Amino acid sequence: MDSNTLSLLTNSINIKAGEYLPAYVSRLLSYGSFIKPQDFYQSFSLGVPRTSEGYLPLWALKLSQSGVLGVPFSDIIDKHLCGNFWRPFINDDTYQQFVVKQLKRKGTTRLLFSEEKPLAKFSPLKYCQRCRDEELERFGFPIWKSRNQLATVFTCSIHGDVLHQKFQRIQPVPDGKSESAFQQEGGIQPEITMFHRWLEFETELVMASNNSASNELFEMCRNVFLESSFYKVKNTETDKRLSAQWIEALRRYLYILFPFHREELWYRIQSENVGIKAMMDNGKQVHPLLLLLFKSFYMFEYKA
Ligand SMILES: [Zn+2]
Repeated sequence: MDSNTLSLLTNSINIKAGEYLPAYVSRLLSYGSFIKPQDFYQSFSLGVPRTSEGYLPLWALKLSQSGVLGVPFSDIIDKHLCGNFWRPFINDDTYQQFVVKQLKRKGTTRLLFSEEKPLAKFSPLKYCQRCRDEELERFGFPIWKSRNQLATVFTCSIHGDVLHQKFQRIQPVPDGKSESAFQQEGGIQPEITMFHRWLEFETELVMASNNSASNELFEMCRNVFLESSFYKVKNTETDKRLSAQWIEALRRYLYILFPFHREELWYRIQSENVGIKAMMDNGKQVHPLLLLLFKSFYMFEYKA
């Protein structure tokens, strides 16, 4: 498929405001049999994606850079791939280096944050039933919103309703075969507690911070953790207490957020990347979900 044909296609079926990029591509591929997934991805010199790879997979990066969507690159990242949430967790140089590395396909596991793969794999797709019904009436199809796919968002920003969470075996990718996985049908509405509300509140704050070019917010936050906790990186009594309480809390939090894959996720995620040292170390990037969970733990649960 050449870029003119592709532009023609994306012009007639354009991406909607805030639409989650993987869901948009799935929608694109579902329009008639004349778009073969292989041809679509071949136009970016890529094969059809098989597994979800976190915030910024190569196919998404290439599609965003190609210009065929008629949306500036940074807008696609921020508004259609949740970049306005995760970019403040990473400094801009590291982010730019990642983009280059990803495009040049350097290294085998190219991820922005440690543990991104299991966390992405088990994340549910989420939708608001009232938005779905309104959009069906308005456009003839519902939109998967980028914001709603964040692991720390649980309610609709328009209606305030609890989102339906569609837990699937793995998070679906736009491979032309996952049409039903991207349908806004079924799923569960979890019981929302103060824990959920707090995480969502924190998430909205990050997105409103307009801080995507720097990770100052989190550097400051971690400095506060470090100083106020008297953590020494030396396995002192304080360090041990903090570490044990954190791991216990993390396990509990992940069990709430990923009820259907909790054992498997916990098994895959346990490593030094989620431990106390990683949370405290400003030189190390931490997955946004883990850092927000650590912040809630530190503020509300930690007993010094
Ligand atoms: Zn809604």
